Amino acid sequence: MIVLDLHCTNDHRFEGWFGSAAAFEEQLARDLVGCPVCGTTKVRRLPSAPYVQTGHAVVERPAATRAVQPPSPPAPPSEAVAHLMAQLRGMARGAEDVGERLPEEARRIHYGETAARDIRGSASADEVEALLDEGILVLPVPPAEEDLH
Ligand SMILES: [Zn+2]
Repeated sequence: MIVLDLHCTNDHRFEGWFGSAAAFEEQLARDLVGCPVCGTTKVRRLPSAPYVQTGHAVVERPAATRAVQPPSPPAPPSEAVAHLMAQLRGMARGAEDVGERLPEEARRIHYGETAARDIRGSASADEVEALLDEGILVLPVPPAEEDLH
């Protein structure tokens, strides 16, 4: 999961969550990415590098557009969660398996030292805790079917 800084032609800044940069490009091309403030699909990605979504970044980031947000949320939460879970399952399948280098790779991506991409691998409970402390989201994904046999 990555978060991209976006802005529309009316100069509203907002964030979009996407499975990957490619997923964003595809949704943008199909006019599925809309500004939450004015609704336009004329949206651009700001030139900042994508980063791994953190557990509390959305809360910490000052929401510049908060004062003019529409009164109702754009989608029911349950639907959004279901969509997110579907994206996560797809990501886990398509993610690069970095094995035990997961903590190291997750940090390098988080701090922009390597290209942002979806990765999966193994990490101990201590390592996962350390990553979470640094604000790096780590998602537990159940092992694939073939690993259980
Ligand atoms: Zn707008």
